[in-house]
Amino acid sequence: MSVIGNARNAIRTVKMGNGGRFKEYLLPFCSEVVNCGLTMRLAIISDIHGNLPALEAVLKNIETSGADVIHCLGDTVGYGPYPDECVTLVRERCTVILKGNHDSGLLLETPLEDFNMYGMKAILWSRKEVAAGNQAFLRDLPFTAAQDECTFAHASPLQPDSWRYILTLRAAQESFSAFTTDVCFIGHTHVPVIIGEDGSINRMKSKGRYIINVGSVGQPRDHNPDAAYGLYDTESRMYQLVRVPYDIQKTMQAIREAGLPEFLAHRLSLGI
Ligand code: ZN
Repeated sequence: MSVIGNARNAIRTVKMGNGGRFKEYLLPFCSEVVNCGLTMRLAIISDIHGNLPALEAVLKNIETSGADVIHCLGDTVGYGPYPDECVTLVRERCTVILKGNHDSGLLLETPLEDFNMYGMKAILWSRKEVAAGNQAFLRDLPFTAAQDECTFAHASPLQPDSWRYILTLRAAQESFSAFTTDVCFIGHTHVPVIIGEDGSINRMKSKGRYIINVGSVGQPRDHNPDAAYGLYDTESRMYQLVRVPYDIQKTMQAIREAGLPEFLAHRLSLGI
C-alpha cells in the first residue's frame, strides 16, 4: 500500500540529548493539501492464456506504473504454450487470483465440449504441461472476489461459474445487481470496454457504477495485438487501459513447436 508522499519517510531516527537515538514513527507524509487518505493503485490482468512473453512484458510495465498490487482475473492457462510457467508467475506476483473457464476446463470441472476445437486441443495439451502443484492451486481458486472496494470476476459477477459473456448492454445491466461495489472488473471476452450502469460505453465519470473489462494479456481480440491490462486508483477512481508490445513471434514459434493449432499462433499477430 502506498501513501501520498514517500513511505520511506515514515520512520526517522532522532538524536537524543544524551547521545542515544530512538526511532520516531511518523504519520504518512503529505506534501500538498490533497486528499491524504490511503489509496490503492491496482493493476488488473486477465486472460494470460499461457503467453509467457506477454505476461513478462506486462509485469515489467506494471513495475513502472506505481501499482501497489496486481490482481488476476483468471484464464492463466489455455491456448498458449507456457501454461505452467504462467501459473507459477501469477502465484508469485498476484494478490487476488480467480479461476477462469480455461483453468476450470484444464481441471475437467467445465466440460471440454463447452470449448471450441482450438480451446479443447490446447486444454488437453496443457493438462500434461501444468505441474500437479499448480493444478492443485488452480483447483482452489475462487470465481469472484471483493477487495480494495472493487469486485472481481472472470466472466460476470452474475452466476460466475456459468461463464456468461457480457457482450451486450442488456447482459451488462443484468450483472449490476450481482455486486455491491461501484466497480466490477471482468475479462473473458478479451475485448476491453467500460460499461456504465447508466448505459454509457467507455465514458467513465467520478461517480456512478461501472463494469470494466480489462482486455487480455495473452490473446487480445480487439484487433490490437499488444497485451492489455488495467490500472485503477481507488481514491481518484481514475482508470487507465494500458497496452504493452511484446515478442509475439516468440510465442507464435513456441505454439508451433508445441504442435498446437496454427490458428492459435496466427491470431496473435492480428489481435483476433
Ligand atoms: Zn479467456
